[in-house]
Amino acid sequence: MKPSVEKLHKYFKLEAERGYDNRAVMGGLENMLLPWEAEARADNLPEEIIQAVVTRLRDYPRLSPDSRAEALKGIWKRVTREMSQDEPSSAIKISVKPAPLPEIEKSHVKPAEPQPGEEALPAKPEAPASPETVTEITAVETKDEEETAVEEPTEPAALNAPITVLHGIGPRHAQTLQRLGLHTLGDMLYHFPHRYDDYSQLKPINRVEVGESVTIIGTVENVDTRSIHNRKMHILETIINDGSGSIRLTWFNQPWIAKRLKTGTQIVVSGKIDQYLGRMTMNNPSWELLEQQHLHTNRIVPIYPLTARITQRWLRRQMNQVVSYWSPRVQDWIPEAIREELNLLDLREALLQIHFPNSWKTLEAARYRLSFDEIFLLQLGVLRQKRAWQERTTEAIEQSPDWWQKNIDRLPYNLTNAQLQALESIKSDLESGRPMNRLLQGDVGSGKTVIAALAMSAIIQTNAQAALMAPTSILAEQHFQTLQTLLSDGENGVHTDSVRLLIGATPDDEKQEIREGLASGDVKLLVGTHALIEDPVVFNDLEMIVIDEQHRFGVKQRATLRGKGTNPHLLVMTATPIPRSLALTIYGDLDLSVIDEMPPGRQEIKTHVLLPTERERAFVIIRNHVENGHQAFIIYPLVEESEKVQALAAVEEYERLSKEIFPDYHLGLLHGRLKADEKEDVMTRFRNGELQVLVSTSVVEVGVDIPNATVMLIEGANRFGLSQLHQFRGRIGRGSHPSICLLIAESSDETENERLIAMIETNDGFILAERDLEQRGPGEFLGTRQSGFTDLRLANLTDLKIIESARQQAHQLLDDDPSLQSNEHQLLSIALDAFWNNGKGDVS
Ligand code: ADP
Ligand code: MG
Repeated sequence: MKPSVEKLHKYFKLEAERGYDNRAVMGGLENMLLPWEAEARADNLPEEIIQAVVTRLRDYPRLSPDSRAEALKGIWKRVTREMSQDEPSSAIKISVKPAPLPEIEKSHVKPAEPQPGEEALPAKPEAPASPETVTEITAVETKDEEETAVEEPTEPAALNAPITVLHGIGPRHAQTLQRLGLHTLGDMLYHFPHRYDDYSQLKPINRVEVGESVTIIGTVENVDTRSIHNRKMHILETIINDGSGSIRLTWFNQPWIAKRLKTGTQIVVSGKIDQYLGRMTMNNPSWELLEQQHLHTNRIVPIYPLTARITQRWLRRQMNQVVSYWSPRVQDWIPEAIREELNLLDLREALLQIHFPNSWKTLEAARYRLSFDEIFLLQLGVLRQKRAWQERTTEAIEQSPDWWQKNIDRLPYNLTNAQLQALESIKSDLESGRPMNRLLQGDVGSGKTVIAALAMSAIIQTNAQAALMAPTSILAEQHFQTLQTLLSDGENGVHTDSVRLLIGATPDDEKQEIREGLASGDVKLLVGTHALIEDPVVFNDLEMIVIDEQHRFGVKQRATLRGKGTNPHLLVMTATPIPRSLALTIYGDLDLSVIDEMPPGRQEIKTHVLLPTERERAFVIIRNHVENGHQAFIIYPLVEESEKVQALAAVEEYERLSKEIFPDYHLGLLHGRLKADEKEDVMTRFRNGELQVLVSTSVVEVGVDIPNATVMLIEGANRFGLSQLHQFRGRIGRGSHPSICLLIAESSDETENERLIAMIETNDGFILAERDLEQRGPGEFLGTRQSGFTDLRLANLTDLKIIESARQQAHQLLDDDPSLQSNEHQLLSIALDAFWNNGKGDVS
């Protein structure tokens, strides 16, 4: 017996012995389905059997013991019958195609035709090459006699089947498609077109205009190839004509195209209209051979993201196969009530329409529905997390109004109204008896630290402990100094020894001493880097965690952190202003406080956008500031993804600046390839004033406070998001002297300069963040750690309307059924787990 069958037998037997209480497997039989399915497939169990087992067991928990007995017997009968038949030939892979894929397709599907210039695609010999149309494939249900009891022919588990079960996709193609992330049928179903060509809206060639992006159809009139530059460049030119006029198409270095472009064939071409020597052309347009039925049916034709070795036509055909058969068979996991209330398209219809839309209107509806799905799962996940946190209790921390007032009065300045407001919310969190879970947003320099310090001080007064975590040692050290002063100040301040710093560089014996102090409770506040969660420190009574510059941590990491205490209060601070739509999604598990007001008397930073030709002026300005005893930053962009290349560029620039531009100054160099202690060393020397100019890549740390730095030059400013530029700019203007920020784009590109002008117009990080989000999408705010969110296929994280509606529905749903236990929420519950466990939304 094959191991997977044996396992099944074992479970079934155990279940029978237990009277079908669904406890033979921890968490219920349905819990073993996923691993079992994989195992069964590795065992080469026939697809039919796998499907039968999976489909019938999925409902197992909802059956009565009697029906359960029936079900298990039925399944077992089926399995043994099939296996006895197959036993003799069990060494070979029995079933290449899954049961549900209809036989009939074979005769309808054209074999993958080898395209010249591509590696020949292996054609299945049994499929005759026929000119038959592909779009006409109609799936025919193969009803399984054994399964007539199953009402819906829905088989989500079958969507886990590898794409090789498809006719026309062998191991070679499977390998190619993997590059597109396509492993299973489900992946295919959710591989959405990135655009569509509308064959009913084609433009006649005589009406196209320079600069516009169009799709046209024409007949190839002639094809001409030549090589230039010592054969290094290959040029292919063709002229197509559509009766209204003709246009020249040019491809560079793609000689294989010539073999496919025969005079007289009709092709569909998409791209931008350029101009060359006064005539219109298209350069490297995307193209394919015309399929007549697209024209006849006026179809809106999907265009899929491709990879090498496959063509649009071929992939579209495969997609058609999958979509037409499978989309009607998926189960809609959005509860009907929600679908009705929001007028959402049914999932089956949505999947069909997103691939092969009937009209732009239905396409829009499909998009809306599928985007909603993503945002809804995102919202359910964060809100579930938030609720779980809110259900916990913790000791209420209460200090008298008098105590708060005294501590506020003791500060060397008056708190701003925004600071006071944030403090109020934090106070009520502390008093609530529930753990705080708050995001404190405030532009660079808005004074977040002092608010955190007051909160921690309230905690420490009760003899409990607090920890503050910063992303870098430089920042940790800076906080350490500030907090030591703030907390030890005044009559009931703590002893300076109870505030400690733990970073990677802390000597071992000191670390040991700190650990002892934490365990005994003598150390009240620990400031540090990641080291403080990685270190095996054990707190005596950790009641509050503060994370600075929190955008580097994700939902899951936050959860881990909390484990360091018993339900500690959590305050996360960020200087990256986060647009509301994002705050509701990626930080939707947190309560929000915003400090939207600057302490009075701040020097406004003047910002200028200079042309590359005006660089000399920038150097003169820097010189002026340095001559007056101040310091300067010069920032170089991330030109290459590779840190190595980036570092090289910075090193080169650094040497040029040291030798040619500022030979009389001391320059420092900071980049990502330096070791941690080398970085520290440069930063320390800059802070001490030993260095006048700091040349840095974008690694220059957020939050670092060097009040004497008054000028910053950012090269290649066009490569940065506005939010990031604003962060850089926040490094200056921290003292009492006027500061100036100079932005130089790489070229005098007008649109880029226009974008940068926003930096001159406003110093408000929120406005810049909103613009960034509009112009560059959410990537800017997510950072690499949270790239899971960029896996969202359709959802636009800027669409506040969808986000709010999804959030409201998620709230309501969790109110009604907090742990998604009711029958109508079972599918949803599965979808939710899959979403959060597949790396999407996984922001750790
Ligand atoms: P950030 O919000 O960027 O972390 P900080 O907490 O580092 O800002 O505060 C920046 C500077 O402003 C610090 O030197 C701090 O002492 C000072 N500061 C904070 N609040 C006020 C205030 N209300 N009035 C004047 N200065 C303040
Ligand atoms: Mg700060």
